[in-house]
Amino acid sequence: SAPEKNDFIRQIIREDLASGKHAAIRTRFPPEPNGYLHIGHAKSICLNFGIGREFGGPVNLRFDDTNPAKEDPEYVEAIKEDVRWLGFDWAELRHASDYFDVYYLAAEKLVKEGKAYVCDLSAEQVREYRGTLTEPGRDSPFRGRSVGENLDLFRRMRAGEFPDGARTLRAKIDMASGNINLRDPAIYRIKHVPHQNTGDAWCIYPMYDFAHALGDAIEGITHSLCTLEFEDHRPLYDWCVDNVGLHHDRALLAPLEAAGQAGVAAKPRQIEFSRLNINYTVMSKRKLLALVQEGLVSGWDDPRMPTLQGLRRRGTPPAALRLFADRIGISKQNSLIDFSVLEGCIREVMDAASPRRLAVVNPLRLVLTNLPEGHAELLRFPNHPKDASFGEREVPFSPVLWIERDDFMEVPPKGFHRLVPGGEVRLRGVGIVRCDEVVKEGDEVVELRCTLDPDTRPGLPGADRKVKGTIHWVSAAHAVAAEVRLYDRLFVVADPDRDEEGKSYRDYLNPESVKIVRGYVEPAAAGLAPEAGVQFERLGFFTTDRHDHRADAPVFNRTVTLRDTWTA
Ligand code: ATP
Ligand code: MG
Ligand code: MG
Repeated sequence: SAPEKNDFIRQIIREDLASGKHAAIRTRFPPEPNGYLHIGHAKSICLNFGIGREFGGPVNLRFDDTNPAKEDPEYVEAIKEDVRWLGFDWAELRHASDYFDVYYLAAEKLVKEGKAYVCDLSAEQVREYRGTLTEPGRDSPFRGRSVGENLDLFRRMRAGEFPDGARTLRAKIDMASGNINLRDPAIYRIKHVPHQNTGDAWCIYPMYDFAHALGDAIEGITHSLCTLEFEDHRPLYDWCVDNVGLHHDRALLAPLEAAGQAGVAAKPRQIEFSRLNINYTVMSKRKLLALVQEGLVSGWDDPRMPTLQGLRRRGTPPAALRLFADRIGISKQNSLIDFSVLEGCIREVMDAASPRRLAVVNPLRLVLTNLPEGHAELLRFPNHPKDASFGEREVPFSPVLWIERDDFMEVPPKGFHRLVPGGEVRLRGVGIVRCDEVVKEGDEVVELRCTLDPDTRPGLPGADRKVKGTIHWVSAAHAVAAEVRLYDRLFVVADPDRDEEGKSYRDYLNPESVKIVRGYVEPAAAGLAPEAGVQFERLGFFTTDRHDHRADAPVFNRTVTLRDTWTA
């Protein structure tokens, strides 16, 4: 079994369990449904759900849907599918919007206790009053409003009396704080926008920091794991948790209990870890959205996209993403992971899990002239060179074959060990053939006429005769024509996000990142189910396309090459 993981977060959890601070732990994965998940989210999913599994704690999937303008049920469904595909399941599915009544009661509580006030400053004025890193902020002229006036105005905000942006509810914390997040941050804003989950019920919406902290408290999340950019928000997170005090004021949970969705109400602790960055990739939702909207990729699930939908379409096994998450680990150190680390994980998992098949993606005819015309036989091939449990299969063989065009050269450079005029090569599983004649149409080689040395067939004493190269083939009469999509990295530079005058990541797209070719595959490959992984011998790891593959019209996506061709 795998060694026990022991990063700093797991160490904290072990201590909290050992000291009795918590009898059990609870975590959550809290995506905002404003886009598709990407491989960065996979790190967070593997962390939260992995910890749940290791420590026997429930893990919630919570949609942090507090910004109705950008959210969509399409994303909600895709996110659920992606989490399950990665191999995890949630204890409870929640939405921040399930808690809108609780958030509202919590905000009223703060108002009544003089800890929040309605402010009429415009967004621009709020910025002006907020100060800077070196300059303290100034109090809003509305900071001194009475509790009665604040309560009345807040209720009227909720009733829809004011237009968007006219007023906000702000936490009354400290305008001189060294942490700008504590300079009376807004906790509610007016937005006359219908919500994907609550429809027209609300025209005021809680701000993320307030909603997120209280959402964690409501669900009894013990360890709220988030990325480092929230480190500066932790004091506000704690302020919200402590001042609302859900963990000792269960009356606030009444609306939830009425809806049969009781909260646990523990005091959560936020812990930050570094986000995943990978070179040759862009990862922000905004940039991924632009790639889709500008038609630079075929969609969210384009197999070159770092979205989970794209990685899945490409054929990335979920186990490879879990392995990747384990391998990169968890820390507070920001770092840039090399794309080849991901590819290495994919190779490792696919190597162990994929049966071998024969396919030719750049076909050249090879005719064995010393076999009788119409000859056909079935050869037995092992499905996996290192794992007998994959069994064997029969591969049809006949005198007319397809081989890779690249495996023949009329004028070979030094060190070319494959087929050349007059030379010999081993046909995988068949025997040694000699190229007697090269048939050309103009400059183009269209056929190789060869003889098979009958003494070198497998099982015969001559089979051991040494020859430098071995090449693969498929039988022309039996092979199935297939569409083969050869994918590569989407960007040609390691840092497509770099700041360069007048340029953007769009300028660094790899024109070779997809090539669609017609090839031939052996019948046993054509018959695979959609989303099945194979190794095409000598070519790479491929996966049948999730949507387009059919046994009579097979479609294969190259998931990863056999070797790294990017790092020199
Ligand atoms: P983006 O910045 O790419 O738009 P986000 O952080 O806004 O993503 P959310 O839906 O808010 O996306 O993220 C859900 C969870 O996934 C959060 O806890 C967030 O910290 C985590 N997460 C997002 N991106 C990464 C990343 N690159 N590495 C690790 N965790 C991430
Ligand atoms: Mg976000
Ligand atoms: Mg973000």
